Amino acid sequence: MWQAEVRVDLDAIRDNVAALRARTSAEVLVAVKADGYGHGMVPAGRAAIAGGATWLGVATLDEALTLRRAGIESRVLAWLLSPGLPLHEGVAAGIDLSAATPELVDELVAAARQAGRTAQVHLKLDTGLARGGAAQADWPALFEAAAKAQAGGDVEVVGVWSHFACADDPGHESVDRQLAAFGEGLELAGRYGISPRFRHIANSAATLSRPDSHFDLVRVGIAAYGLSPIAGDTYGLRPAMTARARVTLAKRVPAGQGVSYGLTYTTDRETTLAVVPLGYGDGVPRHASSTGPVRIGGAVSRIAGRVCMDQFVVDVGDEPVEAGDVATLFGPGDDGEPTADDWAAATGTINYEIVTRFGSSRVPRHYDGEVRP
Ligand SMILES: *Cc1c(COP(=O)(O)O)cnc(C)c1O
Repeated sequence: MWQAEVRVDLDAIRDNVAALRARTSAEVLVAVKADGYGHGMVPAGRAAIAGGATWLGVATLDEALTLRRAGIESRVLAWLLSPGLPLHEGVAAGIDLSAATPELVDELVAAARQAGRTAQVHLKLDTGLARGGAAQADWPALFEAAAKAQAGGDVEVVGVWSHFACADDPGHESVDRQLAAFGEGLELAGRYGISPRFRHIANSAATLSRPDSHFDLVRVGIAAYGLSPIAGDTYGLRPAMTARARVTLAKRVPAGQGVSYGLTYTTDRETTLAVVPLGYGDGVPRHASSTGPVRIGGAVSRIAGRVCMDQFVVDVGDEPVEAGDVATLFGPGDDGEPTADDWAAATGTINYEIVTRFGSSRVPRHYDGEVRP
């Protein structure tokens, strides 16, 4: 018996990845960072591989090492590395590592020597996002350092890559601008003798909307979990996560009753209040106070008043709700329940954040489907 649970449909992840793979001739990397966007990093990774992903992508070295310790043998790329990490552990584990500075290339040379193995590096170019990646003025120094390290045999430049700022807005002029800059970067790399096997820039949004951005590898995250990064089109993807809980208490209260901390919500008639055992300690945004939609019984109602650490209250009106009934916060929408998109709209955020908030949560995660977690 569960009181609250996050259900993850691993077959949906597998099938979404297979559908994405069918859209491109490039290899597919599935981003499983941040505990697989809340779906469980290792099970999500296995489902992605079952769907045809040949690469998994993570932010941190620790995440990459966790995948290896779980027995995942696919290629893994880790892309967010501060100086001074034990990179030799990543090299020894056969993890591809990203570098955006000559200093990190030097660290990879040292790591390769320590591990007794060639470091597989992906050179990251900033083509306009102005987040990670070498600024355009610094590309020559990065390529020079990488070419030298490659000539020394310690490093193999496997990839040259970048990341989009606005691919979720398909008409945005920056997409073309970044693609043009990426082309210049690849051309410049060639002049330093660097011709990587994997050129990659596309995230989910570009994978879905810009086939001309696929190159040799696409890096999909949110779409693998069945959510669309582009408003107004689901692309036939199937959401993999359902969050739900059993009502702990239902009671009739009169009109004029203030509800939950601060008494910010007041009943406007005699009504039934249902207490749901999920709160911001579990991943429910406090910003869902008096806005988050929840399906209990046959109806979708709103959260009444503040979301607390462990629980919130729903005003279900005259719906015949009892303790033990299932309250579904979001799911694929099959039974009329809200979706992560509905929650994002209600709380002023994006579907990515809604599902990711349930990662490493107090709530037990249960897996459905043929793919074994
Ligand atoms: C998270 C991430 C992705 C995947 O992004 P989505 O929008 O979820 O497809 C791709 N590349 C990098 C560098 C990322 O950090």
